[in-house]
Parts: sequence; C-alpha cells; structure tokens
Amino acid sequence: MGQNIRILPETLCNQIAAGEVVERPASVVKELLENSLDAGATEIRIEVERGGKRLLRIIDDGTGMNRDDAFLSLERHATSKIHSEADLFRLGTLGFRGEALPSIASVSRLTLRTRSEQSDEGWEIYAEGGTVKRAGAVGIPSGTSIEVRDLFFNTPARRKFLRRDETEMGHIGDVVTKLALAHPEVQFRLVHNGRSILDVYRQASLIDRIASLLGRPVLKDLLAVEKDGPEEMALSGFVSEPSANRSGTGSIYTFINGRFIRDRVVQHALMDGYRNLLVKGRYPVAVLFLAIDPAMVDVNVHPTKHEVRFRDQRQVHDFIAASVRDTLRPSNWLPTSGPPSGGDILTPEEGPVGPPSSAPPSTIPFGQRVEHAATIARRGVQEALQGYARSSAGETLAGFSPRPKVAPGPFWMPKPAGEPQEGGFFSSLEIIGQYTRSYIVCQDGADLILIDQHAAHERIGFEKLRSEYRRGRIERQALMFPAVLELDFKEAALLEEYHEELAQLGFEIEPFGGKTFALKAIPQILGDAKAEQLIRDVAGEMATVGKSGLAEEALEDVLILMACHSVIRANQTLSMEQIHALMAELDKVDFKAHCPHGRPVMKRLALSEIERMFKRA
Ligand code: ADP
Ligand code: MG
Repeated sequence: MGQNIRILPETLCNQIAAGEVVERPASVVKELLENSLDAGATEIRIEVERGGKRLLRIIDDGTGMNRDDAFLSLERHATSKIHSEADLFRLGTLGFRGEALPSIASVSRLTLRTRSEQSDEGWEIYAEGGTVKRAGAVGIPSGTSIEVRDLFFNTPARRKFLRRDETEMGHIGDVVTKLALAHPEVQFRLVHNGRSILDVYRQASLIDRIASLLGRPVLKDLLAVEKDGPEEMALSGFVSEPSANRSGTGSIYTFINGRFIRDRVVQHALMDGYRNLLVKGRYPVAVLFLAIDPAMVDVNVHPTKHEVRFRDQRQVHDFIAASVRDTLRPSNWLPTSGPPSGGDILTPEEGPVGPPSSAPPSTIPFGQRVEHAATIARRGVQEALQGYARSSAGETLAGFSPRPKVAPGPFWMPKPAGEPQEGGFFSSLEIIGQYTRSYIVCQDGADLILIDQHAAHERIGFEKLRSEYRRGRIERQALMFPAVLELDFKEAALLEEYHEELAQLGFEIEPFGGKTFALKAIPQILGDAKAEQLIRDVAGEMATVGKSGLAEEALEDVLILMACHSVIRANQTLSMEQIHALMAELDKVDFKAHCPHGRPVMKRLALSEIERMFKRA
C-alpha cells in the first residue's frame, strides 16, 4: 500500500475544530460574547431567533477591526491575543486559540460587520460554510456585529442533536448570565424572537447584577466574601447562608480571574466551607471570584475553557474552603425574617444582657453587611475560643457529679451558682416554655423563636468533641463497672484494628480474650448513652472511612455519630434550669444555627408574619 497521509483541507479542519468548540447555539454565543468583551465593549446586544437555530446576532460597541484584521479573523489560528508561548501562561483575555470565528463560520452562514474607530468605513464579509462569498465596504457605527444563520446547515448530523427552542434558549440565557455576572460594567440585552428576555444596565454593582440575574429575593440570604490569601490570591463575591440552599449546583457561579469555570477543586473547596452546615445533596448559592497570579493557573486545559489546572491545588483549595468557612461563621445568627419588628424591648429574665454587639442583627442594609460580617466573624472566633477554654477547665469533674433525674448528660448540666453567666444571643432570649417536649419556645423582642432541642444539643456536642479532639484529648469518664462487649468476628477485628484511634476518641477498651472486650472508659460527653451499640457503630464508621482517611475531616463523621448518641432527644422534658443551661452552651459554640447534619437549629417567626396569619396586618 502506498502512502495515504494527506493534509486535510482547511474547511474540514475548521469543521473538526467546530466539533470541539461549537456544540450548540449557546456555545456560539459564549465565544462571540467573549470576543466582544475582549474588544472592550460596554454595550452588547444579543438577538436570537428560534433558540439560536435560525439566527444569532451579537452586536457590540468594542474596538472593531480594520479591513485586514476582519479577513484574518476568519482564518484558523488567527488571533490578536497571544504572540508567544509565554503569553499562554499569563492570559489576560478570554479568547486565545484563534479558533472560534473560523469554526463558527465553517458550520453556518456568517456575516461579519465591523469598523474600528480609526477607519472611516466599515467592512462586511459574508461566508458560507467557511468560504467567503462576498465582501465590501459598508457604513456602520464603530464596533462589531456578527450574524450567525442556520447553524449546522451543512452538518445535518449535528443539527439533529439540537433540542427544542426553549431548551437551547435556556442554555443561551445561562451563558449570558455567567458573563454578565463577571462584567457588571457592561450592558447586556438579550432578545428572543423579538421579545426582550434580559436587560441589565452598565455600571451596576455586582450585587445589583446578582439581583437582576438571580432574583432579588436571594439578596437577603447572601454574605459578602472578601479575603486575601497567600501568593496574592484573593477571593471575593457572595455565598448564601446555609439555610438558603438549593437542590443542585445550578446556583454556584465560580470565576477565576474573571473567567467562568466549573472546576472540581474549586467546587470541592466551596462545599468544604459548608461542611456540616448543609444536608447531603443540598448546595449553596455562590457567586465567587478568585483572583490568582495567572502564572499559577493553566486555563488552557479544556477547549471550552471550563476547567483549569492549578500549580498548587492544595493551597487554592484550602484558601477557598477557609475563606468560605470564615464568612459563614457569623451565620450563627439567622437572618431575621421580614422587616425589623417593633414591640417590646428585650429584657432577659436573668443574667446581664450580653455586650450590645452580640445581639443578633435585625435586617442589615446590604452595604453594611460586609463590615458587619467581618466583625461578627472575629468576635465569633473569640467567643468560641473562650468557650472552649472554659469548658475544658470546668467540666472534667462534671461527669462524676450526680446527675439530675430528668435528662442526664454532664455537659449541659446547670452551672453551679456563683459562676458568672455569659451573655449572648441565646442566653438573652426570653424563654416561654417547651413544646411537645421537643422544641423550646422563646421570644426575641417581638419575634417568636423556636429551637429544636435535639439539633441544638447535637451541635453543641459535636463542637465540644471536635475541639477536644483537636486539643489531642477527648475527656473520658471511667466506668464504675466495665462493660463486657461480646462481638462477632468482624466487629472484633475492627476493634483490634482501630484500637488506637478509638483510644484517641476517648474509648478505653481492653481485650478479654477471643472476641470479648472490656470497655473501661468512654468519652465523658456520652453520659449515660448506650456505649455498647455506639462502639459498634463507631468501629463500623471508621471501617467505612478507612484507615488512610482518618484525617480530621473524615473523623468528623465519627464525631457526629458520637454527638448524636450523647444528646438529649426530642420527647424529653427539660426543666427551666436545663433550658437556660442549654442556651448558655449554644452561645459558646460556632455554627450554632445548624446541627452537624445541616438541619436548622432555630426558626424565627416575626410578629408581622404572625399578624399576617391572623389577617391583622
Ligand atoms: P480568539 O478570540 O481566540 O483570538 P477568535 O476566532 O474568537 O479567536 O477571534 C479572532 C480574532 O478576531 C480575535 O483575536 C480578535 O482580534 C478579532 N475579533 C473577534 N471578534 C471581535 C470583536 N467582536 N471585536 C473586535 N475584534 C474581534
Ligand atoms: Mg475568541
């Protein structure tokens, strides 16, 4: 057989490239919008007919092109954006492959009209399937308009893959949303079949943009993120309070150096920030911008540039996770619902009122929230640290003191009289009573507060366990009568394998021969909990986690399990004293608004809402 290698004709190359870059009308819109933004446009109009299958027209007021550039722009690998290999690693623009225009042209009927400010006349080029058919001078304002008709007219196989108009339009809207979020300084108008779909004005702030693109109601749930990291990294934007979550990742918008990306590392880091604050399968709303030295990130990994590669993945991950975590710390405070309610001035029954700053904010105007969040974040950390210090000093003995009859459990036992009582939001609540032996009903000003006693207690237990674990020692209580554990083979093997880790967690276990073990001490926090079942569960959980994964992160699941065993249940009568003690404990821990499984600890009902219920307002 003779040589059969052949250089492919240019149009075919372009069509192959189009296969990578141009999947559907929305991908055309993305490429063209990116070009307009790179050209410094301040106003962009996007006209769509039939979901973009019949027509896409993007008109911008950017720099435009002169005659030569206009022709060149339709050639493969023609770009004004990079000149050398080094440029690849410090990209400042959105495009760079010089593939988009020729690829789009190769699968459509494309009309390019453009005029640079310096030229007196503009140029119009018409190409069909990538071949220029007509060109000539035209009188047009400076800027560029690109019209793409009959997408995939010459590649019927690909045309078949296009969906209904509405579906394609949905994808286009998504693309416009992402780019419009990243460019509040630019006006975007989107028109479908002559109807205006979206019109966002120039020079809006990011928060205005979010309001018009994601809907105004989400604003009250957003917390501002503003963090500087190592290596001149910075993270800014907004994340939602854990209570305002979604069932999918659709409301997560992450950008790197102004470019929308959907990166695994970034997404994982974000979710890590919400660790134990969201129920499984729930996701936050987030609009986050990571600024990073372009030399530290390679955006050239993916043809449509949705993925990136970081030089130091761990560092980026940890910075994002810690920043989000830090921002969420103030969401110890649930936002008040509705307008600030008038009514009684808060007068706690007993104990001094906490420092004025620790009263929960009522509705905070958005601008102020940024500073506020930072202040609360700092205070939150301090309070927590003090709380931990106190609890470690004072409670070692508590496990051995006699327990009240109603609900045993050492750490939320009433404090001995004489110990100063701490102020704080929960301590300052006026307690009305207990409801169905499961909820604590309180009053905060004129708002009604319901607290899930089980969830609250679980969070307290978890935070205590974790802080003790971090300090290297989970407090133990010796069992007066060691419990004898009769296990099966699998369980016995697990117990032997994880003997040391279990000891670290506060379980003292001694082999008794065969499959029998003696349990001599258990974590103090467990109180009277049935230790035998728990030890099986914990060993089982550790086995799932795996030995290699016994880092703190993974151990949290074990700690949650332990916290869950330690707590007061729903359906348990609490005395007033115990309720007050529980409130004081809640004030000491972080993330008190959610139990470690992510369920809310408290709900607030404003007087106005109650009045509405009774048709008084
Ligand atoms: P890339 O964006 O990767 O450079 P494209 O094929 O998308 O490649 O565009 C090729 C070139 O055409 C760009 O580098 C730019 O110089 C020019 N160009 C494309 N669109 C516009 C526009 N809307 N305004 C001004 N110049 C444009
Ligand atoms: Mg481009």
